[in-house]
Parts: sequence; C-alpha cells; structure tokens
Amino acid sequence: MNCRFCENSLEHMFVDLGKTPLANSYLTKESDFKIEKEIPLNALICEKCFLIQVDEYEKPDEIFNNYAYFSSYSTSWLEHTKKFVTNTIERFHISENHQIVEIASNDGYLLKNFKEKNIPVLGIEPASNVAEIAKKSGIPTITSFFGTETVEKILDSGKKADLLIAFNVLPHVPDLKDFVLGMKNILNENGIIIIQFSAYLLDVIKKCEFDMVYHEHFSYFSLFTLKKIFENFDLEIFDVKEIFVHGGSLRLFLKSSKNKEINIDKNVEKLLKKEKDYGLQKISTYLNFQNNVEKSKKNIQEFFIEAREQKKKIVCYGAAAKGNTVLNYCNISKKDIDYVVDISPHKQGKFMPGTHIPIYSPEKIKETKPDYIIILAWNLKDEIMQQINFIKNWGGKFVVLIPEVKILK
Ligand SMILES: [Zn+2]
Repeated sequence: MNCRFCENSLEHMFVDLGKTPLANSYLTKESDFKIEKEIPLNALICEKCFLIQVDEYEKPDEIFNNYAYFSSYSTSWLEHTKKFVTNTIERFHISENHQIVEIASNDGYLLKNFKEKNIPVLGIEPASNVAEIAKKSGIPTITSFFGTETVEKILDSGKKADLLIAFNVLPHVPDLKDFVLGMKNILNENGIIIIQFSAYLLDVIKKCEFDMVYHEHFSYFSLFTLKKIFENFDLEIFDVKEIFVHGGSLRLFLKSSKNKEINIDKNVEKLLKKEKDYGLQKISTYLNFQNNVEKSKKNIQEFFIEAREQKKKIVCYGAAAKGNTVLNYCNISKKDIDYVVDISPHKQGKFMPGTHIPIYSPEKIKETKPDYIIILAWNLKDEIMQQINFIKNWGGKFVVLIPEVKILK
C-alpha cells in the first residue's frame, strides 16, 4: 500500500486493532450474525508526510449509501453549528450575494441556518436517504460524493462557492487528492473554505483515543500534514482553531494562495509549534502509540472482570462507531453488557456490529435500573449525564473508558 497523498510506500504500523466488522453496520436481525464480515482494522503511517491511513477495504458507496448517522439528533451539535454559522456570517461579511456550498451536508441541518437568512445554499450529500430528507425540507442538495467530477457538473450549472464548508468529512475521503482538487476548482477567486473534522491526531495520540480509529475513517491528520496537502493544490491555511467537540476537533480556514488580501493568523504557526514540541514530526512518537493502546485495553478488560465479580448490571449509552471499536478490540461481549441505548430511532431495535449487543431506546434504563452506564459516545458526556441524571435515584453511576476507565462522580 502507498501513501494516499505522497505515494511513498507505507512500511510502519501506527495501530493494529485486530479484525472487526464495519463500525456503522448495525445488524437488523439475529440471522445476520452468522454472515457478518470481519475486516482487519489497521492504521499505517507514512514516514515521509506523517499521514495516518486506514486501507480502503470497503468501497465508500457501500458504507455511505444508507448511512444511519443523522446529524440532527444531537442537540449540542445543532447548537454548535448554529453558533458557527452566526460567527461565520459576521467574520466574513457573508450576505445574500454569496453562494454557500457544503460538502457532506447531511439532512441540511447546517445549511438551513444560512437559508433562514436568505443566503443561497447548495448541499452535496452521498447518502441518498439522508439527501432526500434535506430536499424535502427545502435545502437544494446534489446526491453525490464530492470530487472533481461532481464539481465539474456544478461549474457547468454556473455556480461557484464563495464559502465552502466541509464538516466531519475529510477523514472519510478515500481519494484525498481528487477531493482537495475539487475544493480548489469550485472555490471562487476570493472564496473561503472552512473545514472541521474530529480525530485530530494530536488529541488521538495524547489522549490515547484509539476508538477514533474505524474503517470509515480513512485518514488521520496533523496540521503539519494538512498544510503540505493543501499547499500542493495552491490552497493556504490562514487560520486554525482547536474545537472541543467530538473529543477534539480541528477547524481550518483556507483561501487560494493567490488571494493576498487575507493575512495568515499567528494561530497557524502556534499550533504547528505545539505539534512539533509534542513530537509529531518524529516517527518514534507514532510508533509508541500501540503500546499505549494495549495498556488501555488491559485496564478496560480489568474493569469488566471486576464488575462481573461484583455482579454489577452494566449498560452502554450511545451506539456510536467509536464504541464499536472499543468493545470489539477489548473483546467485550453480551456477557459483560446487557444492552446499549441510543436516542436515534434508526438504531433502536438493531444490534451492535461484532458484539451483537441489542440497542434500545434510553427509556429502557428506567425499567432495568443498571449500576453502571458506560458512555460510549464520551464526546457527548455532559449532555448525556444531564439527560439521564435520574439514574442517581437508584445509585447508578456513569463510566467512561477513554482516555482511561473512570467511574464519574
Ligand atoms: Zn505520505
């Protein structure tokens, strides 16, 4: 396998998480358990550009065709994006004369904030079931993956992007170069690109967030590597922010290198230095990750052994992809966990991939009164703890597994 950016041959393993099913392939019936496919989950590192990459075992159209993830189901995320839109309109003086384009626009939850202010929007979303919902709510949406081919069609229709937004999509892109070239091509001369994504490499390594690694996440980036990638396509990062959602995200602001009207913020140099000081420009830092992951696995398994001895009733909250990585890698099974609850009706009634733990509505917690509720979607910890704070009525406790096992007060 060669690096999907610099084409250098990949010889170093970043992390090997064994064989596991696709993290978002929830099973609908018990007879599917037998035919479930397990795929090696390895991430490799490029020695030359430090891009971390998971091999593309499964074609993106298989993964994303009927994607179960609907952004609109997390209230904190909706608030986050609403605030983002308000700040962006203000900072970049966005008006009704500007065209907003969003890549992976989901059900239109973000664009609708622009549309309410009569700013023209266009969404691009590959999952047809999700795109349909967006269209029904009046958000113009092209059902397609983003890349040079899709951009060609948009340009033919006479549209270019004054503001191009790509939230939580960059790590999911297998053909990275075609994707970035597409971004460059659709951008108006003075246009701006804002990218945000989770699994920022500095956080992943620092906090041992190995659960951020799953098959649908093809690439893991440092700012150092991203700068190289975008420069290769004449795009320049002019500002960067670390955002504390989804367990550590990065927000990048880009422009064409030809656009000299925007100055480069000091934040860019600052974060590059922070990464360098942490060792992200040395291969040894990356090669040490596996050891930390194995230590974490040992601690997680010990927690379950102890809890089983004490006959604790354990359930999980949040049927998130990251939870599937942890449970499968640590060999946690139905013997350890009674069930998982999730707020999304699209996941309720299904089974977790690999572990086959059933998924119910959060209402179930009131019926069975568990001792421990493990928050698998730990990025939504505060929100979840607030939602189901009634567990204290019977002495139930919240637990997180990442970055370390912790029973929360
Ligand atoms: Zn490379």
